[in-house]
Amino acid sequence: MITIKNEEALFFQYLDFLPTPALIGQEDKCNKRAKILFVNKAFINTIGYKVTDIPDHLSFISRAYPDINYRHEVMMSWLNRMSQLTSRKTSIIQLCSKVLCKDQQYRWFDIRTELKSTIGKGVVIVLFNNVDKAKNEALQYAKLSRTDPLTKLANRRYIQQLLKQETLNYQQDYNPFSLVMADIDFFKTINDSFGHSCGDYVIEMVAKIINRSTRKIDVAARWGGEEYLLLLPKTNTTEARIVVKKIMKRIHEYAFEWEGERFNVSLTYGITEYRMTEECQETIKRADGYLYQGKSKGRDCIVSDSLIEVWGE
Ligand code: GH3
Ligand code: MG
Ligand code: MG
Repeated sequence: MITIKNEEALFFQYLDFLPTPALIGQEDKCNKRAKILFVNKAFINTIGYKVTDIPDHLSFISRAYPDINYRHEVMMSWLNRMSQLTSRKTSIIQLCSKVLCKDQQYRWFDIRTELKSTIGKGVVIVLFNNVDKAKNEALQYAKLSRTDPLTKLANRRYIQQLLKQETLNYQQDYNPFSLVMADIDFFKTINDSFGHSCGDYVIEMVAKIINRSTRKIDVAARWGGEEYLLLLPKTNTTEARIVVKKIMKRIHEYAFEWEGERFNVSLTYGITEYRMTEECQETIKRADGYLYQGKSKGRDCIVSDSLIEVWGE
């Protein structure tokens, strides 16, 4: 005769044959921690933790999601899905998340939790479908679609998306933000004198200097050939001018060199602040207009809303 105890052992033995990592927990109403009863062999092989490492669900959560912000994000999506369970007439929660495994590697899993299993009172079955390869590929493609291959800056399409979002944020918080359109001066001469590869090196180097001179929340994009667009959130024109002067100084001081020969590089900059109710295309157009004013004034200068500044003055 098979006793309850035997049934449990048989069930766990069966789970050990499953290629999908699985975890069995049991809710404990008294201390609000679900005890981990069992993890199968696939779980130990892929995720690494044994029951002794994760005796309850909270210890699993803190080991799997050590980053507090990410943990909070995962927990919020979990609670959100929990609240939708009754309307969706299901007791299964599905969530894709990045788990820190015992070997200190992060892996993506599609985590499927059956909250109302008929196996026993309060028993929860969690299956971890390993989607690491597919998810990383998808993330890589998404990143490539936003990035300029030469400079690794944001591409034109992506900064336009971010700019659109920034104008929507503006309607909520009225935080000023500025745009900078910058273009390398006499770039054609660089290409003609030193060759196309040298031109590419200059485009890349200028991108690096711009990136190193801006904050994390700023976005620098390659707008076109030797043209850059910067989106500076929470920045008015006066503050944007300080940032641009810093970039200008660093580019002036940088020792550009190709095949042993040193040369100077300069850019002309157009700066403008977003104006309430305008379309972001109008802001871009204004920055571009200032840039071209700067070009006609002799280049190597900054033109911003009602101000022209020339390098060195
Ligand atoms: P200005 O001072 O008025 O900006 O003049 P410029 O010579 O910089 O501008 P122009 O528009 O006359 O020339 C830009 C050149 O940049 C033309 C184009 O062949 C070259 N270019 C565009 N994209 C790339 C690129 O990815 N790599 C290289 N090496 N050259 C590029
Ligand atoms: Mg140019
Ligand atoms: Mg140009």
